[in-house]
Amino acid sequence: MASYLYILSRPHSGSTILDMLLSHSREVFGCGEIITGLRLRHRKWQCSCGAEMAHCPFWSEVRRRVEAAGVDWEDLAEAHLRQSHKFDLLATFRACRDPGRAPARFQKLARFTRCLRDVIAEVAQRPIVLDSSKTPSRGLFLFRFLPDTKIVYITRDPRNILASYWWRMPINDTYLVQRRPYHGPLRWLAAVEIGILWTLGNLLNEAICALDRKRAVRIRYEDLRDEPERMMRELGAFLDIDATPVIAAIARTAPLKRGHLLGGSPIRIESEARFDPNRELKRAPPPTALRWLVTAICWPMMLRYGYPLRAPRHPRTVGGPEHSGTAAPNSAE
Ligand SMILES: [Zn+2]
Repeated sequence: MASYLYILSRPHSGSTILDMLLSHSREVFGCGEIITGLRLRHRKWQCSCGAEMAHCPFWSEVRRRVEAAGVDWEDLAEAHLRQSHKFDLLATFRACRDPGRAPARFQKLARFTRCLRDVIAEVAQRPIVLDSSKTPSRGLFLFRFLPDTKIVYITRDPRNILASYWWRMPINDTYLVQRRPYHGPLRWLAAVEIGILWTLGNLLNEAICALDRKRAVRIRYEDLRDEPERMMRELGAFLDIDATPVIAAIARTAPLKRGHLLGGSPIRIESEARFDPNRELKRAPPPTALRWLVTAICWPMMLRYGYPLRAPRHPRTVGGPEHSGTAAPNSAE
């Protein structure tokens, strides 16, 4: 019997690295951001195994079996994409009050999702299908219409999210500067947007998890970074899985499994990606004024999550010398 596991988070909060870490267990199969993969299915979109999505042996076999079960793949993709969009959030909230009498399109999507979940589990030979699409709308739908779904909600200090965006800005490697005029002297506006969306997004994610606290758990990226073994033990207990292989992979700083992640951070397609808690320390932090600007916007929720308002410019170094030489990806996308 397959079950669905969903990672809910703001962007740049560690969802891909958590997906890759959990994939080291014997029970979980990480799919990355399924929604992103379905959205880009017609382009030369790369699976984490290195193959284009259309030629990846895993996803080709999944598609073949889904279609053999009588589900049209394009229909399945369109239904997923429409519902996962933020504009469908309200309709999903309204429809969820009585799932038995939900609109036909939600019932159809639930059928599609169960089919996709079962086929992925069958091909992967793992009982838990992990989707790290992150979006609230998708998380809400899964929580309501697939009652066995569990959610891991990962938060991150907004100043660290700002730093993750900051180093990408000069290379245009972030949606924040690709889609908006945050260049040159207007870069500070990006910090305002990050702060506002972080607060609103976390309030929304909290509301979704509050619908059933037994099936949702909230963790902080900083705890995963600083105490990965403890966090994996706790997640293992929540998910009812054996976290030993994950903890062993972290302890030996082994390359992370690339698997067949459809979407997520570029870390997923790096050949020697490792879990390196200190990676973010090696990059130049954003200006202090911008950090305070984010803090001024986000302080109520930061206090709720236990983030000190006067945080050090750099988080503390984690681990001993054995970590310091590790060539590794940014651990936080
Ligand atoms: Zn693949």
